[in-house]
Amino acid sequence: MTIRTSLQGSPSVAVEIESRRVDRDAEQRIEPVLHGVWSHIDPLDRSNIASYWSQNNQSRCPIICLGDPWWGEQGSDGVCESEGKLIWLNWTTNRLMPDRIVRIILAHELAHAWQWSIGKHRFALTNDDLAGTIQVPLSRVQESGRVELHADETILRWGFDPSEHVIWKVRHLQLKKSGEWRLRRKPLNEDRSRKRAHLQQLFAYMR
Ligand SMILES: [Zn+2]
Repeated sequence: MTIRTSLQGSPSVAVEIESRRVDRDAEQRIEPVLHGVWSHIDPLDRSNIASYWSQNNQSRCPIICLGDPWWGEQGSDGVCESEGKLIWLNWTTNRLMPDRIVRIILAHELAHAWQWSIGKHRFALTNDDLAGTIQVPLSRVQESGRVELHADETILRWGFDPSEHVIWKVRHLQLKKSGEWRLRRKPLNEDRSRKRAHLQQLFAYMR
């Protein structure tokens, strides 16, 4: 099912939320999450994304697609494709998460759309583009990690904490042998989860 929603701002922009074989009403859950995230994005950045999305008079809107089963990397909860115009959320994991965590994931993918809107996509970024708000040994950061680090620095600036997402996932989710994600019956110890999440995050930036 597909629903179409309009994001406020100048310019305003229509976005389609599309679900593929996911729980009923999933789009209805994501729509207010999307509006909540959008309202937190810096107005100039928001306007850049909306202008970029509106370019070339596209016949199709930018799309947020909820995917279940997930086709991407097992550990990823979202992905931004088509030069920032198609965002996929991994619905096998996102559906288990509270809205505040889904917001962080969606903000991160919208940060990739913003990168495209200002021409700072993966192949155009250098370490000079980094704000330094996340501590990582820069000599170890590669191209694919740099674009993630830059996106996470961007959402920090918008008021979302990327580490909160990683910590929540370590604490609450478990990958079964079957390849299926499940909620843990008992969440892992918070301090230990924090440390493990920190290492996971560093590793993601240094690749
Ligand atoms: Zn990313």
